[in-house]
Amino acid sequence: MRKLSVIHNKVARRILLSFILAALLPIGILGILSYRHVDLQLHEQTTQSLHKSTKDYTLRLIDRLTIVENTLHVLANNVTNTHETFNLTLPNENNQNLLNQFTNLSLVISNVKKISLLTDNSSVPDLSQAELAEVNTGKTLIKSVIDITSNTGQLLMGVPLSAKQKLATGILIAELKPEFIWEADNVVPNNLWIINQTGQLLFASEPALPLPPPIRALTNKAYSGNLTWQTPSGSYLGAYRKVALNSFFSTTEFTVVQAQSKELAFGAIQQFRLIYPPVILLAILIVVFLSSRLIAKYLNPLERLNTATLRIANGDLDTYVSIHSQDEFENLAHSFNEMTRRLRSQFDIMATMAEIDRNILSALNAEEIITIALDRMPSILLCDLISIARINPETYQVSNIHTRRHNHDTETNDDTIKLTLPDVLELLAMQDSVIFTEDNGKLSAYIHVFGNRGYWQYLVIPIVVNNTLSSIICLGYQSPNEIPPEASNAARNFGDRIAVALSNAAWEEKLYQQAHYDALTKLPNRLVLNDRLVQEIARAKRDDSQLAVFFIDLDRFKAINDSLGHAAGDELLVKVAQVLVGAVRATDLVVRIGGDEFVIVMGDLHNKPYPMRTVSSVAEKILDSLKQPLIIADHPITVTSSLGIAVFPKDANTPQDLLKNADAALYHAKSEGRANFRFYSPELNAAALENIMLEQELRGAITRGELQVYFQPKVNLDRRIVGAEALIRWQHAKLGMVSPAKFIPIAEQTGLVVEIGYWVLEQTCLWIKNCLSQGLEPVRISVNLSGLEFKRPELVDVVAGILAKTGIDPKYIELELTESVTVGSINTCITRMNELKNLGLTLSMDDFGTGFSSLSYLRNLPLDVIKIDQAFVKQLESDSSSQAIIKAILALAHGLDMKTVVEGVENENQLAFLKEQQCTIFQGFLFSRPLPREEFLTLLKAESHNKILAQ
Ligand code: C2E
Ligand code: CA
Ligand code: CA
Repeated sequence: MRKLSVIHNKVARRILLSFILAALLPIGILGILSYRHVDLQLHEQTTQSLHKSTKDYTLRLIDRLTIVENTLHVLANNVTNTHETFNLTLPNENNQNLLNQFTNLSLVISNVKKISLLTDNSSVPDLSQAELAEVNTGKTLIKSVIDITSNTGQLLMGVPLSAKQKLATGILIAELKPEFIWEADNVVPNNLWIINQTGQLLFASEPALPLPPPIRALTNKAYSGNLTWQTPSGSYLGAYRKVALNSFFSTTEFTVVQAQSKELAFGAIQQFRLIYPPVILLAILIVVFLSSRLIAKYLNPLERLNTATLRIANGDLDTYVSIHSQDEFENLAHSFNEMTRRLRSQFDIMATMAEIDRNILSALNAEEIITIALDRMPSILLCDLISIARINPETYQVSNIHTRRHNHDTETNDDTIKLTLPDVLELLAMQDSVIFTEDNGKLSAYIHVFGNRGYWQYLVIPIVVNNTLSSIICLGYQSPNEIPPEASNAARNFGDRIAVALSNAAWEEKLYQQAHYDALTKLPNRLVLNDRLVQEIARAKRDDSQLAVFFIDLDRFKAINDSLGHAAGDELLVKVAQVLVGAVRATDLVVRIGGDEFVIVMGDLHNKPYPMRTVSSVAEKILDSLKQPLIIADHPITVTSSLGIAVFPKDANTPQDLLKNADAALYHAKSEGRANFRFYSPELNAAALENIMLEQELRGAITRGELQVYFQPKVNLDRRIVGAEALIRWQHAKLGMVSPAKFIPIAEQTGLVVEIGYWVLEQTCLWIKNCLSQGLEPVRISVNLSGLEFKRPELVDVVAGILAKTGIDPKYIELELTESVTVGSINTCITRMNELKNLGLTLSMDDFGTGFSSLSYLRNLPLDVIKIDQAFVKQLESDSSSQAIIKAILALAHGLDMKTVVEGVENENQLAFLKEQQCTIFQGFLFSRPLPREEFLTLLKAESHNKILAQ
């Protein structure tokens, strides 16, 4: 127990001060009053006693003087005169004592002669004549003589001698002995002064003490009275009385003064003064002692409550005050502890709620929030059981019951409980509050799941998310524990948070879907792909297995999108996605990473060392599945795809590199003629790099004059040159001759092909002009027009501009289109073709038969020539279907009244077959390779020369 410091405690100080004052005030006042009373009393008493003493003294003085007078008369009678010799003859020894009353005794005879009877009489002063006369009449004389220098007085008494001595005149004069006459000892302890009428001091009992100063003034006024005065040595009280001797003696008046120092008179009070301060001190000490004990008793608990309050204010909520004083303080401490407990509980509740809020904000899922709740709520809400369960909003069945009992782990109950209709209604009605219930009360079907024994009470919290009952929380309290008052509020708050968390979790899931899944095909997106690749790589490392990444791109998807519209394009993508998912295992991941690009991750490849066989077969399966015709916008459409494959760990170690290399492989597959797949190889990667480099180089090629136009003749059955095709050549300073098969696709990808195309056309026109200027009739030259060029809105104007600028008749120019121009709106295509034809140009369809266009729609196009693709010619000897196709195309073209050109004729066999099929125009190495323009000019000149010769 901590000692209470009275000095540091304000209340204690005040109480102590009050106690001291309460004790001191009455003691003080009483002291002062009694002091004053005693003082007054003593003053009075002293004055009275002085007064009385003075009066008594005066009477005794008169008595003594009368005695002395009588004595003197006796003596006077005993004076004998023998022949003028005077003797005092005293009859007996005892009478000798009579003489003790005097210091001197003298006879004055006839008023002159002085005779000393006792000693030398020189000290007896002379009497005046008046005095002598007075005595001679028979009166007794009393006379005082003052010696001013010594401030002492003598008292003389004279009586006449009696007649029997037969003396003419004789007077007996005596100087009275002061000790006898004044009897100073009798007035002790009073001081005594005797003064004569003139105010001269006759006698003082204490010669050192001066005569009271005011006495002379007073004696003039009154017969008797009191007086007080101060001297440096102290205060005095005094009384005086005049002694009226005139009636008895011939004399003047005397005044008797008696005084006492106050010190002496007030001795009693002095003692009081001495005793009083220690008494007060003692009183204070007692008060301090008693009040400190009292204060300690009552303020100690107060002080402890105060300290505890301060600690609470500083956030220490574990403060507990223990007071057992069995009074209001104990009650106060009890209330205080209860208040602290509630505060602590409130803070705990708030902290937990805040934690839940944080978790909600940081998008933890609902499960984690429920785990936190199960962990934290029991200690906060002091419940013996907490349970959270799901409610199916349609069937109102309670399932997934997670229950946690005091200090036990969470148990999960897999039972499903059907709530009764009243229970459901109750839950819905109480969605903003809590339901109190007992074992056999409301919701008993649910409560019974806990299998509790004994008396329990429950708080049930319904949780409603998006207006449907989604969960239920139950807090159980086993008797004698009661539901604390703050529990229901906190429980509701907590329930609301769980509701938010649950709806948030649903929202999060939606957001997650949006972020991680493609809205159109519902396939996962790139984010999922990256995560999955990281996981799969980790797994492959762990299991020492391999992993394949397929990069898939639809061939000519853009064409389909443009021709059939975006809706159809979307439909196609959805169907392709379904096909892809169907083509792989459920454990493989199919991802759409953009546009018409898909990635498939195939993990867990264990059949080392030949996993590639599996991978190849999967790739083939995918390509085959995609080749099946799909019904898009009511049209059967066949799409092909190209596929690139990269394998971990052979080709790359990271998700990024795997994807990059699969993409490079895909590029390779496309450049190899599409509709196939390729594995990644480092050389391939080099090719991809080369492409990038080529693209850079190509940009400056025209200005650097590295491009040239070659011409490959077309011949008729007689092998005469009837036309030519302009083919571009790139003579690179370092790379040497670069094939257009290599750089035209790059030029197409980058759009450079447009510029190149216009340049080739212009060069061709210039060549024709040159030809004409040399007087030579040129042949019609066909110029390749890429799909990109064909779609340019300015195409017709530019072509017309080139023709006009070079002044070339359009009949000399033929444009070779590919099937890609028909992609998109067929009508726009036809319009564009007609515009070109209107310029006077000839139009041909290049590489016919390889594309997706069906033969039948050819009839709608304003074409003049069809060029049968080289591929058919190449396969003529090996593949019978090629012969059939060539025959079909030739028949069709014939029917449509279109000319046909067969290109890629390399040998006589091919030529023989084609001739048989009524082909009339040929192009191919069998006749001539593409030639530089001078060479072709020379060839043409020679031919026209031969022609002339032949005629
Ligand atoms: P293409 O339009 O099909 O051109 C015919 C290609 O076949 C030329 O290849 C030509 O050299 C080749 N060729 C001709 N006869 C034979 C033969 O008997 N056997 C074999 N194996 N090949 C033969 P080249 O010049 O390498 O051009 C390739 C492709 O580049 C062209 O195919 C064309 O699509 C494109 N191209 C060339 N020049 C241009 C151009 O100026 N503009 C555009 N847009 N494309 C061009
Ligand atoms: Ca061509
Ligand atoms: Ca061709």
